[in-house]
Amino acid sequence: MHPANFDYHRASSIDEAESLWRENSEASFLAGGHSLIPAMKLRLSDPGTLVDISDIDDLKGITRDGDTIRIGSLTTHAEVEKSDVVKDGCSALSEAAGMIGDPQVRNRGTIGGNVAHADPASDYPGILMALGATIVTSNRSIAVDDFFTGLFETALNENPMVLVLLAESELLVQQTMLFGLLQQKKFCRGLIWGMMQLLHQLQKFLMVKKCSVTCRLLLIIAPIFVV
Ligand SMILES: Cc1cc2nc3c(=O)[nH]c(=O)nc-3n(C[C@H](O)[C@H](O)[C@H](O)COP(=O)(O)OP(=O)(O)OC[C@H]3O[C@@H](n4cnc5c(N)ncnc54)[C@H](O)[C@@H]3O)c2cc1C
Repeated sequence: MHPANFDYHRASSIDEAESLWRENSEASFLAGGHSLIPAMKLRLSDPGTLVDISDIDDLKGITRDGDTIRIGSLTTHAEVEKSDVVKDGCSALSEAAGMIGDPQVRNRGTIGGNVAHADPASDYPGILMALGATIVTSNRSIAVDDFFTGLFETALNENPMVLVLLAESELLVQQTMLFGLLQQKKFCRGLIWGMMQLLHQLQKFLMVKKCSVTCRLLLIIAPIFVV
């Protein structure tokens, strides 16, 4: 099926793309086109005007600043998959990107288009939530937990364009989670109980082996120091 007629503009900068979008009330951005074009062909979407952003270099590329990984919205799934920065910092994201669709989809589809489309079957959202990612637009930053508001719905509204995605490195996320867990009394009690069980088993094992009295005594009183 063919899509309904539409006007087409190719923007060369973020400012130009956003002003074209504002001038045309029914406009949609076109990135990789791998979700939008099929939706237009099925007449599920009828934007009237397409603002092609695929030439905007400022929306491309992956960099790392400390524990924060910055992924431009036009970065393709293939680039996310192959990036050493993503592999080192957020390996789950790289693995997910490598499993999206097929090579054609991965070479054209973009991470920004994927999150903006907010398909509940998408691979990225769950991982971005686990990484505590932030979606950045021209005038605000949206925590990923607040970004997805429903099926195919996001918090973009009047700030339409996704510029970059900021993800924390997995190591930082793990440290934060561990610190959070350690702050919970139940978890600490469970940890201590587990360690005492371990020491108890060790004691039983050593008691049947040849072991000096001092060594046995130390093992018996060791749990006291753990608690
Ligand atoms: C055969 C096939 C298999 C697929 N398999 C998977 C899969 O396994 N897992 C998966 O997660 N996805 C899958 N997809 C979807 C694919 O990942 C899409 O590429 C992606 O969802 C949309 O990215 P895009 O760049 O093509 O966006 P487009 O199709 O160009 O745009 C999608 C929507 O996002 C908007 N948009 C695009 N860029 C921006 C931006 N920077 N700011 C604001 N809005 C923007 C557009 O206006 C449009 O509404 C598949 C798609 C196909 C065709």
